[in-house]
Amino acid sequence: MRQRRATGERIGFVPTMGFLHAGHRSLMALARPQCDHLVVSIYVNPLQFGPGEDLDTYPRDPEGDAAACIAEGVDTLFMPADLYDGDHRTTVSVSELTDGLCGARRPGHFDGVTTVVARLFGLIQPHVAVFGEKDYQQLAVIRRMERDLQLGVDVVGGPLIRDPDGLALSSRNAYLSPENRQRGLSLHRALFAMAESPARSVAERIALGMGILEADAVDYLEIVDPESLKPLEHVDRSARALVAARIGGTRLIDNIALD
Ligand code: AMP
Repeated sequence: MRQRRATGERIGFVPTMGFLHAGHRSLMALARPQCDHLVVSIYVNPLQFGPGEDLDTYPRDPEGDAAACIAEGVDTLFMPADLYDGDHRTTVSVSELTDGLCGARRPGHFDGVTTVVARLFGLIQPHVAVFGEKDYQQLAVIRRMERDLQLGVDVVGGPLIRDPDGLALSSRNAYLSPENRQRGLSLHRALFAMAESPARSVAERIALGMGILEADAVDYLEIVDPESLKPLEHVDRSARALVAARIGGTRLIDNIALD
């Protein structure tokens, strides 16, 4: 990639953990016209999984993934078995933005993400990298990492893609039984109801959403400032509602703009 960069090619990059779906593909389609050479990585990053999480069972489909990348006009598919050869001593950690939401429920998760994304940026040296708003906190954290470290990467966010029934696309949806998938639809129903509510009070909108969720456990349902990710008390300017909930052992996340 360094050689391509040196000859003036603009490098685009979409990092993923594979088991690619239309959400990932939308990021490739967004990146494609913004670069000369498009790189997709597939790496199930062990650093971002906590103990007891689904690292060992994370779904994989290398052949289907390769076909999806070809169909989207990807030039290089990077599928490293290991990024560090077992020798890794540097952690990249973004403070504050990682305190709440998924950061509070998955200790160390975002350090694992930023450490590996920084490593991938160093290896691939992209001019532009595209991340999905599906992982809204992750996008905010990576934007901040880029800003603080001045890595020279244009970080672009792509919209969250849903199935026609409203479920946010996720590789982890493969874990859901038909019945649990139905319950999973309650996440977007709750968020859309919260977005349509005229209530100014955050507490009122959260109570509305909690009444709709059909989860075994709700990790969080919050309304936050879209940039600082700090909780709000009133919806009197742009805001974001985010949810993480467990359904039959699967952890689902979703979010929506409240404008
Ligand atoms: P993952 O493979 O889950 O690590 O996701 C790789 C990238 O795809 C991340 O930037 C995600 O935010 C993005 N992504 C995953 N699901 C969706 C979706 N439903 N819509 C848009 N982007 C997504």
